[in-house]
Amino acid sequence: MPDIIQLLPDSVANQIAAGEVVQRPASAVKELLENAIDAGATEIQLIVKDAGKTLLQIIDDGCGMSDTDARLSFERHATSKIRKAEELFQIRTKGFRGEALASIAAIAHVELRSRLRENELGTKILIAGSKVEKQEPCATPPGTSISIKNLFYNVPARRNFLKSDAVEMRHIIEEFERVALAHPDVGFTVHHNNAELFNIKASPLRQRIVNMFGPRYNERLVPVQEETAIVAVHGFIGKPEFAKRTRGEQYFFVNDRFIKNSYLHHAVTQAFDELISRGSHPSYFLYLRVDPSTIDVNIHPTKTEIKFTEERSIYAIIHSAVRNSLGKYNIAPSIDFDQEDIFNVAPMPKNLEVAPPQPKDFDFNPFDTSSPKPSGNAGSSQGFSRSFPSGWQDLYQITKTQDDQQPLFDQDDADTFTEKETANRTVFQINHKYICTTIKSGMILIDQQRAHERILYENALANLETQGGYSQQQLFPQTIELSSSDCELITELQEDLHRLGFTIDSFGGNAIVVNGIPTEAEDVPIQGLIENFLEQYKHAVSEVQSSTRDRLARSLARSLCIRQGKKLQSVEMLDLIDKLFACSNPQAAPNGKPTIITFTNEELDIKFKA
Ligand code: ADP
Ligand code: MG
Repeated sequence: MPDIIQLLPDSVANQIAAGEVVQRPASAVKELLENAIDAGATEIQLIVKDAGKTLLQIIDDGCGMSDTDARLSFERHATSKIRKAEELFQIRTKGFRGEALASIAAIAHVELRSRLRENELGTKILIAGSKVEKQEPCATPPGTSISIKNLFYNVPARRNFLKSDAVEMRHIIEEFERVALAHPDVGFTVHHNNAELFNIKASPLRQRIVNMFGPRYNERLVPVQEETAIVAVHGFIGKPEFAKRTRGEQYFFVNDRFIKNSYLHHAVTQAFDELISRGSHPSYFLYLRVDPSTIDVNIHPTKTEIKFTEERSIYAIIHSAVRNSLGKYNIAPSIDFDQEDIFNVAPMPKNLEVAPPQPKDFDFNPFDTSSPKPSGNAGSSQGFSRSFPSGWQDLYQITKTQDDQQPLFDQDDADTFTEKETANRTVFQINHKYICTTIKSGMILIDQQRAHERILYENALANLETQGGYSQQQLFPQTIELSSSDCELITELQEDLHRLGFTIDSFGGNAIVVNGIPTEAEDVPIQGLIENFLEQYKHAVSEVQSSTRDRLARSLARSLCIRQGKKLQSVEMLDLIDKLFACSNPQAAPNGKPTIITFTNEELDIKFKA
């Protein structure tokens, strides 16, 4: 038999590798922005046409490249950033694999212009499908400009796989935001189809966040600062009252690199525990600085996942840093300001990195049960009294603003709950089953179980449709024995279960290991949860003609919803009402039965024969 193994031509090998590095225009944006940062740029321009499908151009004022380097930069494994294996553990740059430019050049038409500051002329290279078509001297400003045209022109399968411009653009902005937040000391502009989307100057971090997410953010941010031998943490958390229903701005940066880490995410959300209602998500912008030799960045192609050697200690440090900040900066002003003041925007402090002034003698930490609660004798130096009424959590909950919420009722009732009235909304429970509350045009009764089912159902559907829901990682993963058909079912549904927040691995035989569960399920015993959920799912298969995802969402909602007979606190009821009315179809449970009954004023009048 003749030999059959052949080496792939470079261009094919590059195309295959490119798939890992460049999945969509946004991945190219990330790589190119990071190259500009690594080149020491202070100003970076990003120009996008048709969500990157036609053009992506990045212009920087960084160090530039020599003629030879410019040419070499497109070779696979060509990098100026590391030279030997040991340096992999001392990485201070964004890039180190030398793969991005080679990958991009394999699947697009690329034009690079680059000039070293000390040279008069720069160099221009045209390259397509890994082939250099031309290199010549050119006049160009110091730094580098790289244009990526017709991305995936030679990989139609990829090109066809791209989503709508709106979706691809959202991904690009997401990558841009991560880089721009990691580097507030760099100025950026972003243009899409000639419209300017961002024009942000180098600035302190608080200003950068405000510039990117809007002036309202200034009053929402609480500084976090903690220095230890293992890690230094700084940045901001969002005040609990601004927690969002959708996962909002949640950012970790490690040595200026954006990372995702569900374990550390848990450290933050745990610190917010009890301060925000279930299903709300706090914002955070947390910057960790660690010795590069204590992390491994080289575990994932996109470098957004890293391994820490001291993960547990870092968890504890982040948790306590966030708690301290919440204790010091947040609780007191939020519950004790006059109603009016809550809605006023605090003026931007002059020195933007400095925390709002604190009363000197105020170091009460509401989490620390050992510290005596401050007594009620006010003496307010900052315009708020320092008395802590008992049950302060409740007080806090009902004073949250309606800021990020959807309108609660139809136009007619739109003015029913003005911000101030929210604090005084009355609710009560009937027979531990129904919730009663008033609206301008009368009163409504809500079936608590069906309402909660509707909320969980829509939430689950959204998670299935998008990236997925948050998973509550278990510190002690649990092993569960199931029947073999149930095990099969879990394997079959694996991907969607993951989106719902379940992280499940096979343990061999008929056992599974549950490493994570949906955040909404955090208090439910795991074995019962899984069994109940599977039961519901099998039942749904026989019951309704619907898609797998619809069934999964129904089943999860049904196994997690609060039941009739459960006593609810006012805050819980208000939260349930708010979330119900934020649903796209608040009127009915997933099975179509009504969630709300309305009694109009007229109907009441008639009953009373008014
Ligand atoms: P990596 O960033 O992993 O080194 P890349 O393929 O992204 O790999 O880039 C290859 C090399 O090209 C870099 O190591 C760097 O020397 C050079 N380079 C890329 N982009 C720029 C830029 N904008 N300015 C200066 N040099 C650059
Ligand atoms: Mg790079």
